[in-house]
Amino acid sequence: MKNKLFVMSSASGAGKSTLQKMVLPDFPDIKYSISATTRKPRVGEVDGVHYFFKTKEEFEQLIKEGGLIEWNEVHGNYYGTPKSFVEKTLAEGNRVLFDLDVFGKVNFDKVYPDATGILILPPSDEELEHRLRGRGTDSEEVIQLRLANAKKEVEFAKTKGKYEHIIINDDLEKAAAELRAILTL
Ligand code: ADP
Ligand code: 5GP
Repeated sequence: MKNKLFVMSSASGAGKSTLQKMVLPDFPDIKYSISATTRKPRVGEVDGVHYFFKTKEEFEQLIKEGGLIEWNEVHGNYYGTPKSFVEKTLAEGNRVLFDLDVFGKVNFDKVYPDATGILILPPSDEELEHRLRGRGTDSEEVIQLRLANAKKEVEFAKTKGKYEHIIINDDLEKAAAELRAILTL
């Protein structure tokens, strides 16, 4: 039986969104789980496509209603996985891909312990910094916070995380091919 749930995690800037954008069109039965967040939209981000953008009050209401599978505070904002979409998508016979931070993944596993974990690593710390800056979406303060958190995240993921697959995203095409192979399993 094909794997039904896939969770991708990485430090910010390692390339998750880029890889998802390249690979997901090849898998029409895999639906991307759009998270809720209190982070402000970046230029080009659309509500209901990239995230469901919420106020803190709205997010807290979602938690209270039990509407999230898991949630976490990441880089100073809340992020969480809506429950209804996953249940509906699975009921329709489709599969789901999640983008979760490494700590949120631990809570996710309590609900869906059989999900396949995929950790994306940058080829080096220097390259991660280069990519975060090159993306041009974040202030210097935000970049510094994300770089500082990256070390803790990667250390945690490697030692305590449950990731069946690790992809080093150096050559983009090669990394995309590795992701395609995992999603085909
Ligand atoms: P994440 O979603 O993990 O935060 P992004 O997908 O936004 O990361 O990637 C961060 C930046 O790095 C983007 O500008 C993207 O174009 C670039 N990038 C991603 N993968 C590679 C790669 N293999 N080589 C060079 N640049 C890359
Ligand atoms: P970004 O602000 O760059 O879009 O995302 C920041 C971090 O939040 C990334 O590590 C991403 O994986 C994580 N993230 C996105 N959605 C969720 C979610 O629903 N739950 C958790 N725990 N983390 C999320």
